[in-house]
Amino acid sequence: MSNPIPSRKEVIEDIKNRGELVAAVLPIHYSRALLRCFSIYPVEVWGPPKVDVSLGGAHLQPYVCSIVHNALSFLKMGGLNAADFILIPHTCDSLQGLTSVLIDLIKPEQAIIPLYLPRGQREEDIIFLADEFRSLYTRLSELTGKKPSSKDLLAAIKREETSDLLLAKLYKTRQQMGLSNLDFYRLVRSREYLPAEHFSTLAEETLQTSTQPRPGIPIILSGIVPEPMEVLNKIDEMNGQVVADDLACCGRRLYKPGISPEPFRRMAERIISAPPDPTRGNPIEERVKYLVEMAQNSGAQGIIFYEVKFCEPELFDLPNLRNSLKEHGLASIIIEVDINNPLPHQVATRISAFLEMLDS
Ligand code: SF4
Repeated sequence: MSNPIPSRKEVIEDIKNRGELVAAVLPIHYSRALLRCFSIYPVEVWGPPKVDVSLGGAHLQPYVCSIVHNALSFLKMGGLNAADFILIPHTCDSLQGLTSVLIDLIKPEQAIIPLYLPRGQREEDIIFLADEFRSLYTRLSELTGKKPSSKDLLAAIKREETSDLLLAKLYKTRQQMGLSNLDFYRLVRSREYLPAEHFSTLAEETLQTSTQPRPGIPIILSGIVPEPMEVLNKIDEMNGQVVADDLACCGRRLYKPGISPEPFRRMAERIISAPPDPTRGNPIEERVKYLVEMAQNSGAQGIIFYEVKFCEPELFDLPNLRNSLKEHGLASIIIEVDINNPLPHQVATRISAFLEMLDS
């Protein structure tokens, strides 16, 4: 990559210096375009790791996942002070619990904006989600005093669609790009906080750079988020090559362009047509089919389920999902981590043993 990727902090400073607004957005699905129409820049919060979790721990049960523990602790230590709003999609019970804690107990200065997501991919789900986006539009209008037109909304949607098409192209050509696992995920995860136009420029530059393909034992990474990112370094060192992923922060958000000319419906179509995701209620059979096809198309020999401890939506699926994948000849391993801890030595050893088994 010719240009360095700016950090979240640098991007936030730049937005604030321009006098624009920032929304801290919790995982997973929402419409970036809807926020951008109001000149609100989404900066996603996946944890982050390395915070003092005792701050959030006072308000949460110990069996709540570390994404939620860290997000609340980060807010309490002032890490979200630059945000003007906090958007919390109703991804799971833990994030719904966090919304209640913030609204009823903590009452931060920023407006807390929940977003309800349907649990299916039927026509009714598109209608429900489009209505949710209409309600969010009304709320943001009240908060900002702005009323973007349908034309503004469609322009913002198309800007995000262009960015997501480039993201998909990066995924398609990843095996020819020669990037290490860590460099590839640094790039694609910058979609979590870079404005779409900035991400598109970065993606186009990377796609024009020709390098040698990087060999390695081909695997799929599944789960919520590859944190701590050190795990990618370890996979690099052990000659593993992540050739495809089923990660909530990345591959499960390869949104296709919408079809409808009506902006709210188009935003909903994009999210509803995303790859299978346990937090959106996709049946296990759909996930099996999707992962088996992913392995066939990418040449992956096995799957690492890299899971956040206590993540119920992920962990509930795993016994049946792994049995079915085994019947299709796909080996897998489960690694559970607390994103706040350094990568345990034992995890590195288990990944190494799994890669050796695939290579034998
Ligand atoms: S890690 Fe799992 S339980 Fe935690 S916020 Fe994400 S989806 Fe919810």
